[in-house]
Amino acid sequence: MRILVPVKRVVDYNVKVRVKSDGTGVDIANVKMSMNPFDEIAVEEAVRLKEKGAATEIIAVSCGDAKCQETLRTAMAIGADRGILVETTEELQPLAVAKLLKALVDKEQPALVILGKQAIDDDANQTGQMLAALADLPQATFASKVEVADDKVNVTREVDGGLETISLSLPAVITTDLRLNEPRYVTLPNIMKAKKKQLDTFKPEDLGVDVKPRLKTLKVSEPPKRGAGIKVPDVATLVDKLKNEAKVI
Ligand code: AMP
Repeated sequence: MRILVPVKRVVDYNVKVRVKSDGTGVDIANVKMSMNPFDEIAVEEAVRLKEKGAATEIIAVSCGDAKCQETLRTAMAIGADRGILVETTEELQPLAVAKLLKALVDKEQPALVILGKQAIDDDANQTGQMLAALADLPQATFASKVEVADDKVNVTREVDGGLETISLSLPAVITTDLRLNEPRYVTLPNIMKAKKKQLDTFKPEDLGVDVKPRLKTLKVSEPPKRGAGIKVPDVATLVDKLKNEAKVI
């Protein structure tokens, strides 16, 4: 069984991003970039499935500029067998990524595609769902447990009232939630081994995909600054303020 894992290069989750003064976006010049945390969980899950003998090959895919090679090498250091870079300097929106991934699904015929539930830069939470629709595959989003059994995969999802377990026939698309697993640390020997793994590069045109943006960002602005807090002398004053000033109770 082959697993395809899309990994996105995003601003590291520890970085406090700054909005550009002209309001056209956030400043990512000289900012630390890393693999999207939900994608690390996706790679880890694929590696665990391979370690259990449920998968035979893991392919990591990243779409973006040449620097995404670093993200692919990280995925290969965690345990992916090879990488595919779809190289473009165009801004990529979720629909374009989903179309690129659909072309790779047709080419590689994976039994599972495991994506992150969302990218922490655009927070779109769309790519997995769009890919499932384009490739006409069953989907299980926000997975907190994945079990492969023969030609089926059982996925447990966190829903409002508790947990829901659904059974999908393979091939299928899964998106990962935070509690699915804790990704392993990447060791130096594995980083060295990853440098030798196969990495193929395609352009969107090679895959027959037009990645032109369909959405236009009108404005990006900082959230309003929070005012300073105050200390209240007793519970009665607190309740009074919550009732009459904040009007929340
Ligand atoms: P989004 O729909 O943008 O929130 O992204 C959801 C998931 O789609 C991510 O966690 C990745 O697994 C995948 N994805 C999105 N953009 C890319 C990209 N440029 N390259 C590879 N995977 C991506």
